[in-house]
Amino acid sequence: MLTLQKDYPLKSLNTFGFDTVAENFIEIESRDRLVALVNYCQSNHFPLLVLGGGSNLILSDQIPGVVARMQIKGVEVISEQGDQLQLKVAAGENWHDIVVYAMSQGFFGLENLALIPGTVGAAPMQNIGAYGVELKDRVAWVDVLDTQTHQLLSLSSFDCQFSYRDSVFKSVEPGRYIITDVVFNLTRDATQLNLEYLALKDTCESLAKGLSITPYHVFDAVCQLRRQKLPDPAVIGNVGSFFKNPRVCVAEYERLKAEFPALVGFADGDGYKLAAGWLIEACGWKGKQLNAVGVYEKQALVLVNRGKGDRQQIETLAEQIRESVQQRFGVLLEVEPRFYP
Ligand SMILES: Cc1cc2nc3c(=O)[nH]c(=O)nc-3n(C[C@H](O)[C@H](O)[C@H](O)COP(=O)(O)OP(=O)(O)OC[C@H]3O[C@@H](n4cnc5c(N)ncnc54)[C@H](O)[C@@H]3O)c2cc1C
Repeated sequence: MLTLQKDYPLKSLNTFGFDTVAENFIEIESRDRLVALVNYCQSNHFPLLVLGGGSNLILSDQIPGVVARMQIKGVEVISEQGDQLQLKVAAGENWHDIVVYAMSQGFFGLENLALIPGTVGAAPMQNIGAYGVELKDRVAWVDVLDTQTHQLLSLSSFDCQFSYRDSVFKSVEPGRYIITDVVFNLTRDATQLNLEYLALKDTCESLAKGLSITPYHVFDAVCQLRRQKLPDPAVIGNVGSFFKNPRVCVAEYERLKAEFPALVGFADGDGYKLAAGWLIEACGWKGKQLNAVGVYEKQALVLVNRGKGDRQQIETLAEQIRESVQQRFGVLLEVEPRFYP
């Protein structure tokens, strides 16, 4: 039996802290209930929003239909061979708690992704990434409920069509699949580290004090760097990076670099990725405030809610930022989080 709660407040369930109300709300603790809920919503023509930690969502004041908070829990090692193992984690588990759990068991591979807010089930949506590692580098497969066929099935990492902050779940077939579990390829080999990011390498070296760097140093360094740079959503409402780093071709990068020598960009395949935070800061937005919302003073890529902000205020601010970046650099910024509805 599905019991929906009417007019449910979501203020504490979205990291922007917007004062939002769901027409109907339910917590989903099992795959059976998820299947029943999808049937119920489809037969009643209710839109359905699957909610994780609400850390990548920009919600309107009223959310029509049903908001289902993913609460399916569970974690198990499903195979082991030599140093390699596969860890299956249910969608409702907290992402950072799972990184901590994996480290405590001596399972490595997720340490660069420490302290990213949200749930495991939402992580494949935008192929979360940080400090040189993306989710796609660690995913074996993703178990989903296909809301079109009502089947529970497994999608390989290839099927997920992961790319920079994107996947089949986000842009190719949005809303079709509800993720129930993610299976990770992890290792017990403590020497396989990703220290591609200079700041990460430097911090690890200072933590290791001349000894070999371990995944535990990487975990501590990532947590330290993130705490310095990013606002804690429990204190200041935000959804992390608000814009993706825009990708440009080599000719465009060279044109911009000639005109703006301080431009920050890095080679990415056959083009360049520009640091969106640098573009925004160069337009003078860092620390600016517009009504209750603004641009974080320590990182221009992060928009913040300092009290009674709402979706409309954020949309206005984001549009003004996009316009000024486009006018000054001729580069169009793409928003990273999802606006709903
Ligand atoms: C301070 C801060 C720092 C951040 N840093 C990073 C970072 O370094 N790298 C990065 O990539 N992101 C970062 N983010 C963004 C965010 O944490 C991630 O995108 C995270 O994966 C969102 O998880 P969530 O559970 O909060 O998703 P939600 O915001 O609840 O949902 C996001 C989207 O996923 C969908 N969804 C949620 N669960 C499921 C499911 N089980 N099945 C299908 N769809 C689902 C929702 O419907 C929605 O469309 C940051 C955010 C904050 C606030």
